[in-house]
Amino acid sequence: MHNLKRRSWAEPFKIKMVEPLKMTTREYREKVLKEAGYNTFLLKSEDVYIDLLTDSGTNAMSEYQWAGMMLGDEAYAGSKNFYHLEHNVQKYYGYKYLVPTHQGRGAEHLISKILIKKGDYIPGNMYFTTTRLHQELAGGTFIDVIIDEAHDPQNEHPFKGNIDLQKLEDLIKKVGPQKIPYVSVAATVNMAGGQPISMANLKQVRELTSKYGIKIILDATRAIENAYFIKIREEGYKDKSIEEILYEFCSYTDGATMSAKKDLLVNIGGFLALNDYDIFEEARNLVVVYEGLHTYGGLAGRDMEAMARGIEEAINYDHIRARIGQVEYVGQKLIDANIPIVRPIGGHAIFLDAKKFLPHIPQIQFPAQTLAAEIYLDSGVRTMERGIVSAGRNKETGDHYYPKLELVRLTFPRRVYTQAHCDVTIESIIEVFENRDSIRGLKMIYEPKYLRFFQARFERL
Ligand SMILES: *Cc1c(COP(=O)(O)O)cnc(C)c1O
Repeated sequence: MHNLKRRSWAEPFKIKMVEPLKMTTREYREKVLKEAGYNTFLLKSEDVYIDLLTDSGTNAMSEYQWAGMMLGDEAYAGSKNFYHLEHNVQKYYGYKYLVPTHQGRGAEHLISKILIKKGDYIPGNMYFTTTRLHQELAGGTFIDVIIDEAHDPQNEHPFKGNIDLQKLEDLIKKVGPQKIPYVSVAATVNMAGGQPISMANLKQVRELTSKYGIKIILDATRAIENAYFIKIREEGYKDKSIEEILYEFCSYTDGATMSAKKDLLVNIGGFLALNDYDIFEEARNLVVVYEGLHTYGGLAGRDMEAMARGIEEAINYDHIRARIGQVEYVGQKLIDANIPIVRPIGGHAIFLDAKKFLPHIPQIQFPAQTLAAEIYLDSGVRTMERGIVSAGRNKETGDHYYPKLELVRLTFPRRVYTQAHCDVTIESIIEVFENRDSIRGLKMIYEPKYLRFFQARFERL
């Protein structure tokens, strides 16, 4: 079927429908970027040529998924699309019970509310924004127990998403197992740059938590990308299918939250999957309050059908190889051109190291924000800041947080862009890199109170 050695990662699909893109001039981009306050979040999508802002909900669906949309059973209760989705979650992820939700955070809300009591601790392999927020809103405190290597952008550890078992056991001993409702395990850790966790590590976490009667809830948002890395990098998995690896992986956990807008190739959707009947029953009661009846959870029947079919396509080896292959292709070309990026190359995104890229711009002049703006100006490619602007301010002192990492994220939607689009992106970044000495920093002229990176405005210095 495939020849690992010689064939490239080329796309296992052809294009049937196209969405025209607006080609703009540098002069035009100067104008609209200024109007957008040098913040790529404030650009209009139609002014963007290649949109690498996020891989969330930006996927291209297949003809099989679109055909499924026409088979939407929009009954209020008992939609047949729900049963298809339930069947596929049971078959591929292996959990017994399914509660659909409108997207990932809907599932995080339910599980946090059910399992977390005030004063509890939730250890995990690096936080994710919405996951941690729901844990905190339920009265818990998130504790990062990821291995130290995850915090070092140059460390080439193949499984930077691994949990440090010593840190986890120390916490259990310190606060007591009854204060830890579950370990929150993310598969390919988004905030560490899309880095995977190994099967061996998850198995050890299972053994340790079983000893203390602590559950594991998986953030399965990018578990299929994680399964691919296990196949490629972990001993003993080379000859296993993505399907087998995913099934084994989930078997070491008690349940999962899912943002289907990533791995599952849809534009909206999510779910909570569980093995424990009592927890499921509570989730099924609560979902009615916050999302919708337990057989649609805030989704149309057609959305559930697209998700059910998306699972079947997402676990296909040729698909996942091309998806991650595309990200690797861009990352490797950037490495070859001596562009500083976070290593190793992650599953869904590439992170430019803006501190190394623009060493003459001090952090207070927003080097990553500046770099994202310059890349847009050069080519119409939209990326986003993950540095001092995203980090926000310290509530007590009012000063900026000064994060160690000043990054620009290039996130790749699935099945959307061609290799030529990748080449434009690479060429543009190289061009900006060659002219980096002439780039000046930015000054913040408007700062929103919450999550400022979305709406902050800047001026050129
Ligand atoms: C996107 C994401 C979520 C939240 O899901 P939404 O669908 O955006 O609500 C949770 N965890 C991870 C790792 C994510 O990437």
